[in-house]
Amino acid sequence: MTTLAQTRSPAHRDRRLDGIRTKVLAGDRLTLDDGETLYSTPDLWTVLGLADTVRRRLHGEAAYFNVNRHLNYSNICALSCKFCEFYRKKDDVGAYTRDMEYVKDEVRKAVEAGATEIHSVGGLHPYLPFSYYTDLVATIRAEARRLGSDLHVKAFTAVEIVHLAKIAKVYKGANDFSDAGRQARLDGIRWVLTELKSAGLGSLPGGGAEVFDDRVHDEAYRGKIRSDVWLDVHRIAHELGINTNATILYGHIEQRRERLIHMDMLRRAQDEALARMGYGQVANGKSQMANQEERPITLTRPGIPLPEHAAFSPSHRLTDARSQPAGYFQTIIPLPFFPDGCDLEHLPGPSGLENYRTLAIARLMLDNFPHVKAFWIMQTLPMAQIMLQSGADDIDGTVVWYDITKVGGASTHQEVDVWMLQKAIREAGFEPVERDTVYRRVRRDSTDGTKWSIR
Ligand code: SF4
Repeated sequence: MTTLAQTRSPAHRDRRLDGIRTKVLAGDRLTLDDGETLYSTPDLWTVLGLADTVRRRLHGEAAYFNVNRHLNYSNICALSCKFCEFYRKKDDVGAYTRDMEYVKDEVRKAVEAGATEIHSVGGLHPYLPFSYYTDLVATIRAEARRLGSDLHVKAFTAVEIVHLAKIAKVYKGANDFSDAGRQARLDGIRWVLTELKSAGLGSLPGGGAEVFDDRVHDEAYRGKIRSDVWLDVHRIAHELGINTNATILYGHIEQRRERLIHMDMLRRAQDEALARMGYGQVANGKSQMANQEERPITLTRPGIPLPEHAAFSPSHRLTDARSQPAGYFQTIIPLPFFPDGCDLEHLPGPSGLENYRTLAIARLMLDNFPHVKAFWIMQTLPMAQIMLQSGADDIDGTVVWYDITKVGGASTHQEVDVWMLQKAIREAGFEPVERDTVYRRVRRDSTDGTKWSIR
């Protein structure tokens, strides 16, 4: 099949990309200035083609999807972020908070549909006690087990985790900027994550990151946690053996340079996570990272095992992997900003070409993230197909009841079935691979597709 990048005209070739191509082919890390060039070049097809090269090196013809169900437990939120059309205040029409009977019913529907994952997030509810959240996770796990399913719970953004630490009254020293104050806050975050993990939490989604920039933060989502705290939550999750994802919400009031800085902060955090897993001394004994400052950990060089293989396959064990569990960032999910219905409605939002370019640049800059997701529910399925040819290797899942942000104000009931996802992937020239939340391959064990196991 002819790929998208092969269709470009040689007349548009930008020689400034030659040095970047050399680095990409060698698996070397790109600089912020390289990122600026990738954003400014008119030679978009080469950018997409380079991202496709990296994507194929990491995943070959495989394109991942999963079968999941979203459960937004409440849309009541103490904050009022300008880009958000999801939140309600307590007495607003349409405000809701789900009880455990509702949750059990959702689990039953998920199990009946053969889902491997429940993805649960919500607003920052000002009144619910901490026990609600551990109950939520424990109820999902228990009800799924009762129905014969090992449903994975991916829940709570970093913003929610900090909120939970506050309502559990373990987020001490909020105005204490000394080392002791910071340590107290980190201890509170660790306590919350430990409690949730004990209740059955499997992983964290990547939301709430927006754009790691204080100017943008103060203008568009004041009151939310800043980048340092978001990264702290994910680092502690990784230390506890909890895998996480990351997002970037782009196309509103941020500059392209700020997006690149966001990506750089994420890949530095991933350097730390991979070092914790034992990367730096890979299985063949060659040191990949003599000095982290000089030699970052990348996954895009030939022969480097992906973390999911290192974590689950004895043959790929890293030589100095610790016995303690170690989590990492699995996936970067670029999310385009949709202006409809929010306080930034006057902004145009990103163009389709900007969406392709940003996803491809994310693939190229985030050289130590195993996966890049084209989240079809926000990008649309036809766009996601093209993104599979320009850096993405995952298009997320069947997604029932996605309530946070939807394309063009469409119905909140957005769903495709497995057949449609597989068809879309095949049309894009790839082999559909069903995965679970932590990227293990799923086998369907019953003819109706409801029973599954890990291959
Ligand atoms: S983005 Fe999240 S924190 Fe901000 S208003 Fe919406 S639900 Fe609340």
